[in-house]
Amino acid sequence: MDDRFKNIVDNIKDTHDIDRKDLKYLLTCEGEDNLEYLYETAREVSDSVFHKEVYLRGLIEFTNYCKNNCYYCGIRCGNTNADRYRLSEEEILSCCDIGEKIGFKTFVLQGGEDPYFTDDKICDLVRKIKEQHPSCAVTLSIGEKSEESYKKYYEAGADRYLLRHETANEEHYAMLHPESMSGAERKMCLYNLKKIGFQVGCGIMVGTPGQTLDHIYEDVVFMMALKPHMIGIGPFIPHKDTPFKDEPEGSVDLTLRLLAILRLLFPKVLLPATTALGTADNLGREKGILAGANVMMPNLSPVNVREKYLLYDGKICTGEEAAECSVCLKRRVERIGYRIADSRGDHPDFAQ
Ligand code: SAH
Repeated sequence: MDDRFKNIVDNIKDTHDIDRKDLKYLLTCEGEDNLEYLYETAREVSDSVFHKEVYLRGLIEFTNYCKNNCYYCGIRCGNTNADRYRLSEEEILSCCDIGEKIGFKTFVLQGGEDPYFTDDKICDLVRKIKEQHPSCAVTLSIGEKSEESYKKYYEAGADRYLLRHETANEEHYAMLHPESMSGAERKMCLYNLKKIGFQVGCGIMVGTPGQTLDHIYEDVVFMMALKPHMIGIGPFIPHKDTPFKDEPEGSVDLTLRLLAILRLLFPKVLLPATTALGTADNLGREKGILAGANVMMPNLSPVNVREKYLLYDGKICTGEEAAECSVCLKRRVERIGYRIADSRGDHPDFAQ
């Protein structure tokens, strides 16, 4: 093994810090032995915190209407080919009922930024879910809102909020989004969410057009400042009806390296092995767990809408019922020596 590689890995593990050139070295250096050492060390850290338990989150994609026009995303408002839908309150509540029966203790409500779902509607939904499933956590992933709106969601009982920052670099942000959107605004949302008391998740896509290793370093620096409770990363995957349709897919190898580095930097962070990683590589999610991830987010949306919530092409698990997905994931996790947790899966600092 390369001594320099090993020293850098050991050093991040001890100091929870990394500099630009060391990050670049870990993200680019070749050699199976090196990578195995990186993954093994990350795994040791995650196993010491999470004891080989994987947390499941049931993802309910409740609307694919979106007012934004992000260049990478299949449900951008400019995509006139998207078949738009909204789940009714009854449908959403029924997903949660099914989810709890299967054993999920977290429901993630994710959607485009859909003005139909006013703050009142969102708060109503959150309150009902918490009333009907008091032992479960509710996570929202519905984009950029005012601090007042976030406060209302929190007071209604929402526990967590996912809002990937997408890229910490302003110029790169401008390559991925129309002029009406700003990276500074998105970062501000994350700080507001944290201040209010949510368990907060930020994150990026790996391999978006124009992304450089220097950008990834800036992402790491931003995360070290924000100190999020969750970090969602997955490869960029093109969607045929977006401006990025001909751009190359993000690298699974780079995603796995970054997952492992994030685990070393943030031992207690909740780190999903994402659906995008499972789409880019059939065993991507397992590889993610073995590189330090500790969360999976199976789809709980009704099967008849799954094909419509296409952020990118080729998305997996669009045909199976929730129960089938859960059995399949359990098997996948157990095959690599892990098990599904029965707890809510809060960040260790929020453990109840
Ligand atoms: N409207 C919500 C939810 C967005 S979808 C919000 O703004 O947070 C959740 C995440 O999917 C996005 O944050 C983005 O990082 C990811 N995503 C979108 N398009 C993608 C693509 N083409 N490939 C991979 N991931 C994508």
